[in-house]
Amino acid sequence: MRFAIVNLGCKVNRVESDAIAAALLAAGGSEAAPTDADLIVVNTCTVTGEAEKKTRKAVHRALRANGHARVVVTGCAAAIDAAGFEAMDPRVETAAKGALLEELAGRAVGTHPVLRVGGAFPTRVGIKVQDGCDNACTYCIVHVARGRAWSRDADEVIDEAVAYARAGVREIVLSGINLGSYCWGDLTLAGLLERLLAATADQATSGEPCVRFRISSIEPKDVGDDLVALLASAEGRVCRHLHLPLQSGSSKVLRHMARPYDAGEYCTLVDRLRAAVPELSLSTDVIVGFPGEDEDDFAATLDVVRQCAFSKIHVFPYSRREGTPAADRVDQVRPEIKADRARRLRELAFRLRSADRARRSGTSELVLVETAGKATTESYFEVEAPAGAVPGALVAVALPTPPLAVQVPAK
Ligand code: SF4
Repeated sequence: MRFAIVNLGCKVNRVESDAIAAALLAAGGSEAAPTDADLIVVNTCTVTGEAEKKTRKAVHRALRANGHARVVVTGCAAAIDAAGFEAMDPRVETAAKGALLEELAGRAVGTHPVLRVGGAFPTRVGIKVQDGCDNACTYCIVHVARGRAWSRDADEVIDEAVAYARAGVREIVLSGINLGSYCWGDLTLAGLLERLLAATADQATSGEPCVRFRISSIEPKDVGDDLVALLASAEGRVCRHLHLPLQSGSSKVLRHMARPYDAGEYCTLVDRLRAAVPELSLSTDVIVGFPGEDEDDFAATLDVVRQCAFSKIHVFPYSRREGTPAADRVDQVRPEIKADRARRLRELAFRLRSADRARRSGTSELVLVETAGKATTESYFEVEAPAGAVPGALVAVALPTPPLAVQVPAK
C-alpha cells in the first residue's frame, strides 16, 4: 500500500507522524507522493484560527491529489470537529491517533515501538513520553483537543530509548504537550531522565560520545530543583538548552492568560537556572497583542526578554481561537498594533540571538550532524558540520566567530 503523510503543527505532531510512517512501513507500505497514494493521512493542528485554516486547506489538497485515496484526518483539529471534516467528502474519515496506529500497524501505541531510524527519518529522534494538559490557558484550545494529561510507562520509554541508542541514535528529544507534568509513580521528568542516562551510559561504541537527551519544552512551574541539579551535573548528556514559554512579561497579562506564574517568578527561575548552569541556552514563546495588552504591558515584556537574554524567541501575534475565553474578550488589540509589536520584539530577539551566539565563540560543543554539511549544537544553534562527519554522529566543534549580523530577518 502506498501512503503519504501530511504533517501540520507542533513537534509532538511531527513525532506522531513519524510513528505513523514507521508503522505503515513496518506493515509493508511504501511512501509515495499524494498523487500516487492509496492512503493520505493528514495530521492536523488547531492551535490558532490560522492553523485551523491551513488544516482545512491541507485536507482539500489531499482530496484533490487523486480521486481514489482514502483520506484519514487525525490530530487536534479532528478531535475538535470530526463531523466538520467528515462532511467535506465521503472519502474523509477521522480517527484518534492511538486508534489509527493500532489499526494501521496492528499494534498499540508504544507497546512495541517501531524504530524510526535511517531513510527519510530525522537523525534527531523524538520520543513522546506525555500527552494532554490539565492547564487551561485562556488563549489555548490544545488542552481541549488533547484531553487530560497522561504519562507513558517509564520502563517502556527506557526500552525504546535503549533500542534507539543501540541503533546508533545520538540525540533523543523527549516530547509531550505538557512535558514537565510527566509523572510515573513517584518519577518526575528529572527522575525519568536520570534513569535514561543510566540505562544508556554503556551504549556508546568505543570512543564515541553516548546518546544525549533534549527536553523539547517545559513550563516554568515544572522546573524543579531536581531538574536544575541534573542539568548542572549531567555534563551535556541532558542538553543545556531549555525552551521555557514566557508568553508575556506583564504580570497583568499573564494573569489574564491564566498562566500560573508572574513576571517576577519567571525571572527568578531564570536567574536560578543561569547561576546553576552558566552555559545554558534559553529559548521561549511570546504572544504579542493578547486582548487588553497595552503599551506598558508590552514594554514590560521587552524588559523581561532583555533580562532573560534568550537565544531564540518564537513571536506569535495573538490569534483568536474560537472556543477559548480570550476570543470572546471585547478588548482585542488592533491588527496593526499587533504587527508593530511583533516586529519590535523580533528585532530585539535577533539582537539577543546574535549576542548569545557571539558569547559562545571559541567555546567547544558537541554538535549533532543532521545532514552532510549541517549540524546543531547542544545550545541549539545551526553550524556547519565538520568535513567528513557522518549524519547522525555527535562530534566536538569549536564554535567559530559568526559573521557580523547585518540585517534583521523579516519574520
Ligand atoms: Fe495550552 Fe497552556 Fe496547556 Fe500549553 S500549558 S497546552 S498553552 S493550556
